[in-house]
Amino acid sequence: MAKIAILGSSFGGLTAAFELKRLLGSQAEVTVISDDNRFIFMPSLPWLIMGWRRPEDITLNVSEILKSKGIQFIHEAAIGVDPETAKVKTTTKEFSYDHLVISTGPFLSFDEIPGLGPDKGHTDCTFTLDHAVRTGQTWKKILEDPGPVVVGSSQMVSCFGPSYELAFEMDAELRRRKMRHKVPIIYLTSEPYLGHMGVGGLGNSKRFFEDEFADRDIKSVVSQAIEEVTPGEIKLKDGTKIPFKLAMIAPPFKGVPAVAPLGNPRGFIPVDKNFRHTKHKNIFAIGVTMAIAPPEQTPVPTGVPKTGFMTVKMAKTAAATIYSDIKGTPPPPMTELEVVCLMDMGNTAALMKASPVLPPRQSSFTKKGIWAKWMKVGFEKYFLYKMKNGLSNLP
Ligand SMILES: Cc1cc2nc3c(=O)[nH]c(=O)nc-3n(C[C@H](O)[C@H](O)[C@H](O)COP(=O)(O)OP(=O)(O)OC[C@H]3O[C@@H](n4cnc5c(N)ncnc54)[C@H](O)[C@@H]3O)c2cc1C
Repeated sequence: MAKIAILGSSFGGLTAAFELKRLLGSQAEVTVISDDNRFIFMPSLPWLIMGWRRPEDITLNVSEILKSKGIQFIHEAAIGVDPETAKVKTTTKEFSYDHLVISTGPFLSFDEIPGLGPDKGHTDCTFTLDHAVRTGQTWKKILEDPGPVVVGSSQMVSCFGPSYELAFEMDAELRRRKMRHKVPIIYLTSEPYLGHMGVGGLGNSKRFFEDEFADRDIKSVVSQAIEEVTPGEIKLKDGTKIPFKLAMIAPPFKGVPAVAPLGNPRGFIPVDKNFRHTKHKNIFAIGVTMAIAPPEQTPVPTGVPKTGFMTVKMAKTAAATIYSDIKGTPPPPMTELEVVCLMDMGNTAALMKASPVLPPRQSSFTKKGIWAKWMKVGFEKYFLYKMKNGLSNLP
């Protein structure tokens, strides 16, 4: 029986596990190894910060879901992978595999910028449930005692959507409370221009964000790297100082230390179009952990986002490829990745699409409408239902 190990239990890890079990049934022993027993629907974390969702609304119990599907779960962090002996080391065990799927997401590298981050620094973050809960508390304080807000991304970030969403949502909520004039909002970013998003823009996204921010009086500071953060102040590399009462700043992304040695200098893992490691043929890397070269060099380094939508697609292709390896059948066709993103804007939303991810493209647009908000709410419910019931075969 083939032994398949999967690292991570989020968008990529769970989808890969369900797909492999569905395709191979009793012919494979599928084991998920993860340091977190919770599946968090991360696209809803900005809503949680705003007080529009509770943690229990967007959290599933991983061990329960996997058990019902006959998939083993080891609730431990992986601390290393030895591709030569095909073994994963966890904090207390050693686990051998025939095939390994890595979906460990990003390592949030706060330490690269002095003073950054909620644990050792002075800024907030929205990239984990625990950080988002704390950011929600800071946001409540702003509502009680208003002051300047900065949201955005530092250098080496590859996920810009949540910061844009928060800028729009905070603006909308402050207007609803008739206190927008008391809270200046700055969108600070390493992107070379508004709407770049790490992919060279999506259709008219540059003009779209410029117009929407102008309409909402959200100031932007683009193409900037952060030097350091001190209490209440962000210092940029060019010497500019930006005061804040709440600063939600996405930190630089790296690969997770346990798997980073399999990757490039930033720890992201190089793969082929079936998400197979370019050197180790029985290792697959999907989601945020895999490497995609940026479409262009930007003055301040940025990374290419790997969205949930893309991650699920990668997981399905990787699972189908492992199936073909085991069964000796032709591999599935290569996957052309595309970005499809529903961005909340507080009182409305936008659908953003780029196909393929990097230019030149077949199609690419950003379109606004309340229908996009309904789609986003519907997608949250649908995806949580799909994961809870292990229905990875649904679109
Ligand atoms: C705030 C926010 C909003 C977003 N909004 C959208 C959106 O609207 N649309 C969209 O498509 N995408 C969105 N995304 C992106 C989407 O959430 C990611 O693409 C997706 O989570 C990537 O999945 P992943 O499996 O690669 O990694 P992750 O979701 O980061 O999961 C990593 C997993 O690995 C585990 N892990 C980490 N280290 C170890 C270790 N050493 N050993 C074992 N396990 C480990 C973690 O516990 C976790 O289970 C958003 C992301 C965030 C943070």
